[in-house]
Amino acid sequence: LIIKLKNGTRKDIIETLVEKYTGSVVHQNGQEMVITPSSFRKLDNEFTAHVDDLIVTDNDIQLSGKSYFDGKREIKVGELVFGGHTNKTVVIAGPCSVESEEQIFKTARFLKGLGINIMRAGAFKPRTSPYSFQGLGTKGLELLGKVRDTLGLKIITEAKDASHIDEVIEFADIIQIGAKAMYDHALLTACSKARKPVLLKRGFGSTIQEFVQAAEFILLGGNDQVILCERGIRTFENKTRFTLDLTGVAYLKHHTNLPIVVDPSHAMGYSYGVPDLSKAAMAMGVDGLLLEVHPTPKTALSDAKQQLDFDTFEQLYADLQPIANAVNVQIS
Ligand code: PEP
Ligand code: MN
Repeated sequence: LIIKLKNGTRKDIIETLVEKYTGSVVHQNGQEMVITPSSFRKLDNEFTAHVDDLIVTDNDIQLSGKSYFDGKREIKVGELVFGGHTNKTVVIAGPCSVESEEQIFKTARFLKGLGINIMRAGAFKPRTSPYSFQGLGTKGLELLGKVRDTLGLKIITEAKDASHIDEVIEFADIIQIGAKAMYDHALLTACSKARKPVLLKRGFGSTIQEFVQAAEFILLGGNDQVILCERGIRTFENKTRFTLDLTGVAYLKHHTNLPIVVDPSHAMGYSYGVPDLSKAAMAMGVDGLLLEVHPTPKTALSDAKQQLDFDTFEQLYADLQPIANAVNVQIS
């Protein structure tokens, strides 16, 4: 249940509601609400005088659901807009990791030259092996900060866990939560208190329900700026790194009010398939694409096989335009 309370509802009444229905209090746009588990479907009569609106939800897809908001949230990052009614697809691109000043500036200048406004790159890398490159950490964030200051690109970068969330918030315009961290409640809670948009990646072993519930933790904690990112799930198939769940994207579009970004790079795992998957996602009218591009993919310190080189990226970027036109979307 989403209980929208009348203005000025007494504190003791809110506390009683919270206790009786195991609810949480959320303030959004001047509206005070108590959100209870979705298993509650009605309120006792004694509370009706305090209720502005009561929204019954079918499962724990509540604040992210269409019954709460029958549209798409608009998330602004400076002049960039994710979602809303703008029919825009934001292309986010950049290397898997920040590796050096030269590498990150080369990429940033290339992207800016194409008219791209937001760059991705990881400084804290959640690697599967402890023997792999773990990222430059704080130094990587500082390089991203330098890109932001000198070239004016927006930055999305990952917080691997809650220990460095404040640093990431300082340097990022969007905080990325990686697939492996989707269940990290300390990180979800920290992001719920941040006043920055969060891009939440789907865990590769997570159902859509679990994915959206992770988003609900951030929304319920008070951050209403959540972007979902489909980046491939693990199936029985092992010829490709993961399986890009575009079916799931269609579900999320239909049932949730959150902007959706698709990451074909991590799904495919090989650069050759990334352009085709990007075009497919563009044709679905997603709110953003997240693509890995590197000046010299072969020498990349992480995800070398899947990163696009500049020429391939430029060609893809041009090829996306007629698809965007066909589905009435503007690339931004
Ligand atoms: C990344 O974006 O570089 C990354 C680590 O992705 P994921 O969390 O989806 O594996
Ligand atoms: Mn990567």
